[in-house]
Amino acid sequence: MKKLAALGALLALAAGAWLALRDRRPTGFILISIDTLRADHLGAYGYPLDTSPFFDEFSERGTLFTNAIVQLPGTLPSHMSIFTGLYPAEHGVYPPDSVLSPEIRTLPEAFQAAGYRTAGFTEGGYVAGHYGFERGFDTFRAVNTGKPGAAGRTFDLVRDWIDTLEEGDKFFVFVHTYEVHDPYIAMEPFGRNSWPGEPPDTWEPTGANLTAASLGELPVTPEAVRYFGALYDAGIRYVDEVLRGFMEHLWAADLARDTTVIITSDHGEEFLEHGSFVHRQVYNETLHVPLLIRRLGQRRGARVSRLVQSVDLAPTLLDLAGIRRSGMTPSGTSLVPLLRGARQATGAEAYAEGMSVPTRTLYRQTDSGLYQLLLTREGDESVRRELYRLDDDPRQQKDLAPRRSALVRELEAALERYRWDVKANAGRAELSEEQTDRLKALGYLQ
Ligand SMILES: [Zn+2]
Repeated sequence: MKKLAALGALLALAAGAWLALRDRRPTGFILISIDTLRADHLGAYGYPLDTSPFFDEFSERGTLFTNAIVQLPGTLPSHMSIFTGLYPAEHGVYPPDSVLSPEIRTLPEAFQAAGYRTAGFTEGGYVAGHYGFERGFDTFRAVNTGKPGAAGRTFDLVRDWIDTLEEGDKFFVFVHTYEVHDPYIAMEPFGRNSWPGEPPDTWEPTGANLTAASLGELPVTPEAVRYFGALYDAGIRYVDEVLRGFMEHLWAADLARDTTVIITSDHGEEFLEHGSFVHRQVYNETLHVPLLIRRLGQRRGARVSRLVQSVDLAPTLLDLAGIRRSGMTPSGTSLVPLLRGARQATGAEAYAEGMSVPTRTLYRQTDSGLYQLLLTREGDESVRRELYRLDDDPRQQKDLAPRRSALVRELEAALERYRWDVKANAGRAELSEEQTDRLKALGYLQ
């Protein structure tokens, strides 16, 4: 009996502060998307270099999801999945010019309708307002704040808006930065610190050059690949400092107790692990992103290894806010039971697809491990199958498909069930010259 009581006490501890704070709902939500941030380049996710000292410390008192997957490694569809809780095929918003149907409700619209003050700050490009991202925000700004240092300037805008809040205001803020996205231009001194000595003599790491190199049209040395990775890491190190300053501001503004901060990304980045740069393929380096959900007043953290995905975010935030009639129809599921310490049942699945490459992929987590099946169309008839066991081989070096044909067949049958209908047809927008130039600068249009 005594043993059982002790076990009960332990379980209560594991549930973290969410139970203790159950009497009060969070009244503020800050959803932060660090575009192009792969999970495994953060210390909290096991990276050996010192890229994220603040995030690592901050996450210790939050709930860190160690297996969070995005739906597609592309800025526009992936963010739209975060905003709608729908898979890309359901919201139908793809680059360069489709626009979310007004029939599909977004997360900021749900918060606004529930009486929250809402504000969105993005750095434009594929997170510009006209795609549907501005809907539901009282204040929406999509400004190219200029690299290096874009993140600092964008978060300054957020601070200014936070300072207009009055006591008792409920609020929802979305913040997005391209700081770590290509072209890799490091903020100093982080750039210098990330690469001792002279930089290698190589081409500029712009989106256009990196894409050309991915297609074999531009030669690259192993040293240059390491250098580009170091510049990318320097970007993360700088963003980490920006986050530190921003959170200190929140504490000083006395918003701490009832505000929930969510830090995630829309996709990762490739450095030739599987033959490509930027974010073209659907391996772990582009699909596995950080996901931290922390109520600032939370005292104890937790790590959740259950497989979760971007479409789960919208239902989670609605659930946390207690918004019942949101008008949204998300396909994801609320993560609140996991935040409250629910047992991490296995049997989870996550689905993703490529855009630059014709690949569909299924992640499945069972008691025997975490697997990823990739099906890539090659020509009209042929399909290439790859199978990886991620808990054993996170870098995906050992393709198990030839040896595990029964599991491949089983996962392929499961993947076939992931076929959706578009919920409402996307419209089309005419891109302005300025918008086209911005997308070119990000390496998206030629
Ligand atoms: Zn992106």
